[in-house]
Amino acid sequence: MELVQVGEGVHAFLRPDEGANVGLVRTAEGLIVVDTTSCAADMQGLLDAVGVSTDRVCQVINTHSHSDHTWGNQLFRCSILSHRLCRETMAINLQGPWKLDTIRESIALRSQTDPDWAREMQKETIGLQITLPTDTLDRRALKIGGVRLEVIHVGAHSPGSCVVWLPEPRILFAGDLVFEGRYPFIGDADIPALIGAIRRLPDFDAQTIVPGHGRLCSIEQISALGAYLEGTWARTIDHLAAGHSTDEAAADPGYPHYAEKAAERLHEANIRVMFSQLAGDGACPL
Ligand SMILES: [Zn+2]
Repeated sequence: MELVQVGEGVHAFLRPDEGANVGLVRTAEGLIVVDTTSCAADMQGLLDAVGVSTDRVCQVINTHSHSDHTWGNQLFRCSILSHRLCRETMAINLQGPWKLDTIRESIALRSQTDPDWAREMQKETIGLQITLPTDTLDRRALKIGGVRLEVIHVGAHSPGSCVVWLPEPRILFAGDLVFEGRYPFIGDADIPALIGAIRRLPDFDAQTIVPGHGRLCSIEQISALGAYLEGTWARTIDHLAAGHSTDEAAADPGYPHYAEKAAERLHEANIRVMFSQLAGDGACPL
């Protein structure tokens, strides 16, 4: 984990090896936390690292519903803000895959094939009480403790995905629209919308872009992510047009690459997600 000051009173916890990034914005009223990691203990560890107690946090914002951005919510007693669709997705998940028994079952099942993942999940879910956002967006521009910020609904990565924009220091918390240094997770994405949203990110003319995963990134890196998704989408369309199967597409070595080492399994998974979306079979292979 690396703590980086990205502006006056604005910090980012960059966690390329641990999971999702977290933003911290100091205001006259207290601190704003952007995303809460995958467990309360991790989130507590980040606050401890900067000597901040949870009662100094006056606002939490979830950029989207995925567990690695929201399962640390239980630590906070203040308002937790998200888009309506983010909250709805979390509420639906709580009735199904996020039921504690169901989580335990899937950890037990996966422990046969992926013991490291299972061990990590076991640790992260001790004492887990998945906590929904308490508030949903009713306006995009907010002023908290003298700090102006905008929570902008984009969708694309997941239906309720938002970016958090601080217009004065020109800092963009891009959430999972941007993965730096590793393949993106696109299991819930609307791919054409995602490509369009990534292509429009330079319009913010941001001073600093904090991705959902990885290190601070440049416009060139964002452009490389857009090109990877665009190229993978186009090549998958060609496979479908040629009547190939999803396995044939996934075995094609001619696909573009984004990151050589990190989360390489997502390279093949992303081809399969795109194939499935294009074929309209609705079966998500992740
Ligand atoms: Zn995500």
